[in-house]
Amino acid sequence: MSEMITTQALRTLVGEWLDKGRRVAGPSQVKPDLVSYTALATPDQLVLDGFIHPSNSIKEFFFPRHERLYGYRIEGRKVELSDPPAPDAEQVIIAARPCDAAALPILDKLFNWDSRDEFYNRRRAATTIVTLACSAHDSACFCTSVGLAPDATNGSDAMLVPAGEGRYEVRALTDKGRALFEGKTEPSTDNGHACDGPPARFDANNLRDFLRGNFESPVWAELTLRCLGCGTCAYVCPTCHCFDIDDQGACAASATASAGARMKNWDSCQFRMFTQHASGHNPRANQAQRQRQRIMHKFFVYPERFGAILCTGCGNCTRACPVSLGVAGVLEGLK
Ligand code: SF4
Ligand code: SF4
Repeated sequence: MSEMITTQALRTLVGEWLDKGRRVAGPSQVKPDLVSYTALATPDQLVLDGFIHPSNSIKEFFFPRHERLYGYRIEGRKVELSDPPAPDAEQVIIAARPCDAAALPILDKLFNWDSRDEFYNRRRAATTIVTLACSAHDSACFCTSVGLAPDATNGSDAMLVPAGEGRYEVRALTDKGRALFEGKTEPSTDNGHACDGPPARFDANNLRDFLRGNFESPVWAELTLRCLGCGTCAYVCPTCHCFDIDDQGACAASATASAGARMKNWDSCQFRMFTQHASGHNPRANQAQRQRQRIMHKFFVYPERFGAILCTGCGNCTRACPVSLGVAGVLEGLK
């Protein structure tokens, strides 16, 4: 026996979560031709089909683009610090793609490595993740090459699996997921079905061996000549996590004091200034070196350090790249 929920019952449930004051985020039609994960104001905004992958990833609900770490006020020799905003309310991410949810256990390793990132961990603890198994994939998808699948459950608390006729099989995977759907589903003898995964495009172990021995290969320059260094690939990626911390001064707190906030902002290894030293020297002086860094980090360094590939094969970097490169394009070339 399985447990089923209809689209209408799911929307009613989303409405109940919103009424309880939870933040609910999921795929939404933000423009006529654009579906993105966004905080939902009403259950009707939730989009459950007709798209392959939202334009962004769910990481921004754990690791926002900009985040205030603390405020400061300096007057003479006196420095006052103020606490960051109160912890975020409980949130539910609904209809996340499995390749987005799978990024979270990978990111957990980074945000709990040499120091514990309280901001990230606080949001992780306050979030329940409901994934939506894929019904289709496109030419940018390669989840099966990194050990995942259209119904992979890594990082999910519950999964919705399309069963046709406006119904979804609900697979509760954790206590959090079970609590969310308790008493809201109907038993059924049917099952939902995910699509077949995309054909594997490379062998991750072979790729790691290649990267280990080819740091200086001319192939990097050949493959990445067209990269613009725009950083879009990092911003739409569920696993990219680079950030910068800087002080943003508020204008004239008073005639004698200065004030502002210390902020954590998304950054990208594809930007020229990312590794620029104060001396002017830049150890990654050209775009080929920056692209090599991105591939090396995801498929060699992170797996060696944390035992996990820093990529879920979601394909977002390829879809969003203005010159149709992204990770898949570079990996095809390496192959
Ligand atoms: S690979 Fe594409 S998206 Fe990434 S920095 Fe280069 S041009 Fe931009
Ligand atoms: S590198 Fe590209 S394919 Fe891999 S997780 Fe990031 S956006 Fe998705």
